Amino acid sequence: MPNTDPNDILFERARAVIPGGVNSPVRAFRAVGGTPRFVKRAQGAYFWDAADQRYIDYIGSWGPMILGHGHPAVVEAVQRAVTEGFSFGAPTEREIELAEAILALVPSMEMVRLVSSGTEAAMSALRLARGATGRKYIIKFEGCYHGHADALLVKAGSGLATFGNPTSAGVPPEVVQHTLVLEYNNTAQLEEAFTLHGHEIAGLMIEAIAGNMNFVRASGPFAQRCRELCTQHGALLVFDEVMTGFRVGLHGAQGVLGIRPDLTVLGKVIGGGMPLAAFGGPRDIMEQLAPLGPVYQAGTLSGNPVATACGLATLKEVAKPGFFDALSRKTRTLIDGLKAAAQAEGVPFSADSEGGMFGFFLLAQLPQNYTQVMATESARFNTLFHGLLARGVYIAPALYEAGFVSAAHSDEDLSATIEAAREVFKGFQRHA
Ligand SMILES: *Cc1c(COP(=O)(O)O)cnc(C)c1O
Repeated sequence: MPNTDPNDILFERARAVIPGGVNSPVRAFRAVGGTPRFVKRAQGAYFWDAADQRYIDYIGSWGPMILGHGHPAVVEAVQRAVTEGFSFGAPTEREIELAEAILALVPSMEMVRLVSSGTEAAMSALRLARGATGRKYIIKFEGCYHGHADALLVKAGSGLATFGNPTSAGVPPEVVQHTLVLEYNNTAQLEEAFTLHGHEIAGLMIEAIAGNMNFVRASGPFAQRCRELCTQHGALLVFDEVMTGFRVGLHGAQGVLGIRPDLTVLGKVIGGGMPLAAFGGPRDIMEQLAPLGPVYQAGTLSGNPVATACGLATLKEVAKPGFFDALSRKTRTLIDGLKAAAQAEGVPFSADSEGGMFGFFLLAQLPQNYTQVMATESARFNTLFHGLLARGVYIAPALYEAGFVSAAHSDEDLSATIEAAREVFKGFQRHA
């Protein structure tokens, strides 16, 4: 019998013309198996797939949709902007407004440059760190993702404090030979790296609350040590807040941890679902950028008038008093409920959250680094993923991704999700 599920039919068509049928790999469901759901439309906390199935959405476009889909104030701002023009390649007042809004909420930034993707922002911040310090080495941590720029597609080599190996074909080892890859939350290794290479390190880039190895926090002391060592050795501390910015709280992970980075990289929420990202920091460093300084950086669509309208309208909503209190409460309700359901069914489970971002693990204890995250048994995760999907709940199709709650998720959505998880956990026990 021919397969008539519209998602399967679309996936067939997509695979004929787009590599793997998707424009970003994790969408392909390869980690969990099965057919990706093709989204037809979304509203509030839900989206509907090609078969008109409704899902409670815990991805929210991987973070940007913090207000839920189709928030009326955002839709109106975008509609108005579109009638005024799509792109000019010349400056607009709205870029200043967005820059001012960002700087007002992230006190470590005195100036900001707008770009179109997190990858571009992280890559540019890296170039700026190297240009401003005149040094070439950078530190990154295993499990942190900073987009797909060559120098950042790297995993740890063998042994302590070694330079990394490329994680992608097409990246020659020479291109990552100045990228030092360290273990997250490993202070001894961090100190060793600075002892060995301190005078050559341009910058240390970190997700201070990591969301690309599921959800793992840098410990307070570890993050503090990153700050101290950078200061002591004249390296720039770069917080990649593409995911955490305006997501874990109004002042990002730096606000949560109380640490002032030198450079901050933003994306996702600041575009409200449109392609928009940014990087910024102190005036003297940012003035190293072209056209003022020698560090080149540019973009045809940078500061796009429709994207900035979308971002501005989104930031206006999240900056309203009480927004993050209410959002954090929703997220905690969800993870507390999931924890209780797992416990009742005897399933090892741990979870953590900050603001509208969460992670859970089928492990008794919260992991502290990438190796520990990867110890999660993936077969069980896949059962949970597909069990939830079949019950109309859409979580990330890979265990190394964080989850996102939006302001549009209702108490009913959260309890329906917890109930769906409870049913799946029950099945775990029966088949154990
Ligand atoms: C998503 C993400 C990026 C990359 O952003 P894109 O817009 O996908 O290029 C970089 N850093 C972090 C921390 C991210 O979560």
